[in-house]
Amino acid sequence: MSLHGEYDTDNIFAKMLRGEIPCVKVFEDDTALAFMDIFPQSKGHTLVIPKRAEARNLIEMPGDLVGSYMQRVQKVAKAVSKALEPDGMVVTQFNGAPAGQTVFHLHFHIIPRYEGDSLKGHSHGQQADMSELNALADKISSCIE
Ligand code: AMP
Repeated sequence: MSLHGEYDTDNIFAKMLRGEIPCVKVFEDDTALAFMDIFPQSKGHTLVIPKRAEARNLIEMPGDLVGSYMQRVQKVAKAVSKALEPDGMVVTQFNGAPAGQTVFHLHFHIIPRYEGDSLKGHSHGQQADMSELNALADKISSCIE
């Protein structure tokens, strides 16, 4: 799917927002939902999605909603940093399939990096162990300020 097109209300993250499919939740308020990536590229890979806009990517996000959403991205990134004490952290997002996007509801990736650990593949590979994901979500959640 290119950079330009229609928002699909049946994308997997829209379904999560409607409670139609589960997610391993880290944080939620009226602005954003954060949950564990089910194909983590590193331990603690977390996604943050906006709730109040049908935006496929950052370009489509209404400007007046960007600030509050980005505050939540920072809030969750701080909690990941505090909970897991990684050596570094990638905070990123992709716009359009040619850029690597696979789910077309805006989301930021928070990917902790650990010295000596290589990054796993993006959006494929082995699905995470659910009990491990739940434990990580609890740990990060407890560090939300
Ligand atoms: P992107 O490729 O930037 O659109 O990222 C989509 C991300 O969603 C990938 O990192 C996937 O591993 C992740 N993902 C796909 N399905 C799920 C799911 N059911 N729960 C959590 N993360 C998911």
